[in-house]
Amino acid sequence: KAVCVTGASGYIASWLVKLLLQRGYTVKASVRDPNDPKKVEHLLALDGAKDRLRLFKADLLEEGSFDPIVEGCVGVFHTASPFYHDVRDPQAELLDPALKGTLNVLKSCSKAQSVKRVVLTSSMVAVAFTGQPLTVDVVVDENWFSDPEFCRKTNMWYALSKTLAEDAAWKFVKEKGINMVTINPGLVIGPLLQPTLNTSAAAIANLVNGAQTFPNASTRLVNVKDVADAHVLAFENPSASGRYCLVERVAHYSEIVRILRELYPSLQLPEKCTDDKPLAPSYQVSKDKARSLGLDYIPLEQSLKETVESLKEKGLVKF
Ligand code: NDP
Repeated sequence: KAVCVTGASGYIASWLVKLLLQRGYTVKASVRDPNDPKKVEHLLALDGAKDRLRLFKADLLEEGSFDPIVEGCVGVFHTASPFYHDVRDPQAELLDPALKGTLNVLKSCSKAQSVKRVVLTSSMVAVAFTGQPLTVDVVVDENWFSDPEFCRKTNMWYALSKTLAEDAAWKFVKEKGINMVTINPGLVIGPLLQPTLNTSAAAIANLVNGAQTFPNASTRLVNVKDVADAHVLAFENPSASGRYCLVERVAHYSEIVRILRELYPSLQLPEKCTDDKPLAPSYQVSKDKARSLGLDYIPLEQSLKETVESLKEKGLVKF
């Protein structure tokens, strides 16, 4: 059985490709540059890749470029989307590829008779930013949907890109009768398969690499292996439907630093917060729906250890 993974070189997608190959699927994987060893060598080295991994070149902004990849696949995992915070032109760098790219991939799916289900990698940033204050007593769940206006007003361009893309995807699949589920992970950490640093692992690398202060923010964390697992479970379980929030724990950066200090007492970690305001509260994200898939989360302490060990091994942190 063949499945498609878009943006296969990425952090989450690399784990997803690994898992799909392990489970016996043939994987048709899209990458932007199949000739860049940094983007493909780690994929080609995976168990089963020699026989069952096929790489294709495709760009989110090129209409029709996903047609030959999606063709013949029973499942399509659409993970490709730019994830950066430091952008000059949010429209061109984030919003267009996220939104137009998602619709391009879904258009290819609507043409292919073979596709039984699409699994879209959305995000908790398309869930949690409704404008409602995120205080200690709040439990965020799949019924929340971020408000594009709130994202725009607060300059959360990446969140806006994911919110607009997921919203447009639901409208498109409803109109075309495509079966889709979305996976909405929090900040993804855990071991890297790719050789380069991605945005979410960089949040931990920055703390380890001698940041003077830690952000006054709470963040929603989950292990990349659980994220890959959830994608496959949501594809394989016939009764899976709708959205799945994936968060093992909401933690303030002060808590993350505390755990890192316990794990690595000799590390120089930031002692102070970026500001003197009261610490941003931590809230809850419901685990019920993800657990209904059979997911059992890896605890934050282990995820942080795996992240640091992997960053060390790849020479991405000074130690
Ligand atoms: P990466 O940056 O590692 O991967 C992003 C992927 O998207 C890369 O393969 C990249 O290709 C591809 N991509 C970006 N722009 C284009 C384009 N114009 N055409 C084709 N491909 C493109 O990030 P992650 O693995 O972290 O993210 C994967 C998905 O998960 C994204 O949809 C992201 O929004 C979502 N997500 C990530 C979270 C996290 O904390 N990491 C949390 C929640 C959701 P290339 O390698 O060529 O640059």
